[in-house]
Amino acid sequence: MSIARPPAQPVATAAAGQRTGTTGLAGESLVLGFGSRVVVDGVDIEIVPGRVSALVGPNGSGKSTLLRGLARLHRIDGGRVDLHGGAGEDARPAAALSAREFAQQVTLFAQSRLAPSGLSVREVVAFGRHPYRRRFAGPSEADRLAVDRALRATGVHGMAERAAGELSGGELQRVWLAACLAQETGVVLLDEPTNHLDLRYQIETLDLIRDLADDYGAAVGVVLHDLDHAARIADEVLLMQSGRILAAGAPVDVLTAEHIGAAYELRVEVDLDPRTGRLRIDPIGRHGARQHAASAAAS
Ligand code: ADP
Ligand code: MG
Repeated sequence: MSIARPPAQPVATAAAGQRTGTTGLAGESLVLGFGSRVVVDGVDIEIVPGRVSALVGPNGSGKSTLLRGLARLHRIDGGRVDLHGGAGEDARPAAALSAREFAQQVTLFAQSRLAPSGLSVREVVAFGRHPYRRRFAGPSEADRLAVDRALRATGVHGMAERAAGELSGGELQRVWLAACLAQETGVVLLDEPTNHLDLRYQIETLDLIRDLADDYGAAVGVVLHDLDHAARIADEVLLMQSGRILAAGAPVDVLTAEHIGAAYELRVEVDLDPRTGRLRIDPIGRHGARQHAASAAAS
C-alpha cells in the first residue's frame, strides 16, 4: 500500500480469486438480542455485489450485532439471512450451508479480536485460508499466493515473519484485515476497519474497500464511525438507532442534518464541498454553538 504511487500489487490481486460480482447477502426482518433484550429489531439489509453499504449510528445502536448476525456468529431470533449465489442460482438460507461453505462466501472483520501469541504475521494471515484447507494437508500453492497477495495489499508484507504479538494495535489490525482478504470471499463484512489506524492507512483502507467492490464485484458491508468516511466510499448508507434503521439510501439522502441530529442527538451542519463535491459533515458542539450564537448576535 502506498499513497505516493499506486501499489504494485493492489488489493485487487488480493481479491483476484473471488467469484466476481455474483454473491450477495440479505437480512430480512432480522431480530437479534442478548437474552430477552432485543438489540436489532426487525432490520432489512442487502449487501449487493459491486456495492459498498455503510452502517453508521451511535454506540450501542446494534451495528456490530447486526453484522455478526449476517455472518452467522449471532443467534437469529427472528427473520432470515439469505445468500444470493451466482447467475441462475436461487437465494439460499445462510443456515443451509456448512460452516466451510459459508466461510468460502462470507468473511467478517470483527470489532474485537484476540491478540495472537506465538504466531508470525504470515501465520495469522494464513488463518484466512481455513475454509480451503484439506485435513492433514499443508498449504496449497493457491493458499500461499492468496496469503502473499493479502500481505501486500494491506502493507504488512515487510513484517510477514515478525511475531504478531509484538506489533502495534494499528499494525495488528491490518494483519487481521489481511486474513479476511486471504479468505477471498464474495461478501466482505467489516466492523470499524479504520479504527486505530493512522491517517494514511485509514484512507488506504477506504480505498481498498472501494477497490474490492469496483474491481472485483465484492459485496461489502462496513460499519464506519466517521460519517465523512461513509459519505466518501458508500453507495448506500444505513443509519441505525436503537436497533432499527432510521434511514437508508444514497449518502446524500441519509446523511442529512435532520437524520444525524435525530440519531446522535447532536446538532450538525451538512453541506457539499464545492471543490470536491463531497458531503461535509460539521458537528456543532457546545463550543461551536456558542460561536454560532456570538456570530449571529454580532450580525
Ligand atoms: P454498536 O456496534 O452499534 O455499538 P452493538 O451491536 O455492539 O452496538 O451493541 C448493541 C447493544 O447490545 C448495546 O446496547 C450493547 O450494550 C448490547 N450488547 C453488546 N454485546 C453484548 C453482550 N455480550 N451482552 C449483552 N449485551 C450486549
Ligand atoms: Mg460496534
